[in-house]
Amino acid sequence: MNLVSLARRRSPWIVHYNGSSCNGCAIEFFAALTPVYDLERFGVVNMGNPKHADIMVLTGGANYRSARVIRNLYHQIPDPKAVVAVGVCAGSSGIFHDCYYMLGGADQVIPVDVYVPGCAARPEAIIEGILLAADLTAGSDAGGKRHLKR
Ligand code: SF4
Repeated sequence: MNLVSLARRRSPWIVHYNGSSCNGCAIEFFAALTPVYDLERFGVVNMGNPKHADIMVLTGGANYRSARVIRNLYHQIPDPKAVVAVGVCAGSSGIFHDCYYMLGGADQVIPVDVYVPGCAARPEAIIEGILLAADLTAGSDAGGKRHLKR
């Protein structure tokens, strides 16, 4: 593993977007960043700017309005990048599945690499998903989609 890959593995920067959700998973994501769960102990930095990010974290599903925002953010993240869909809504639109405005899970709009289950997803599972994504961007665990077990 070269130095750049090592930096991505040891200090991945993330950008978060909250799509069609009840905000439950977004709250759990922010809980993962607090000192209680301390996602930052793994070197993870939550960025506001997709151009500086390695990993996109999505909570909530994609609807007709948010789809273009999700796509726009995704394309601004430099390669290699990975996408983590947090919660049932980001994975398959969850309880919003039958709503007229929904497109579906995030993978209806962009490629998703890691699916974190749960409604809401637990902070520990979110951390594991982000670290799996960091492995993917560093090239140490390439290939295939990842589904965390509950
Ligand atoms: S998976 Fe559950 S907690 Fe998460 S955004 Fe959807 S409804 Fe809310």
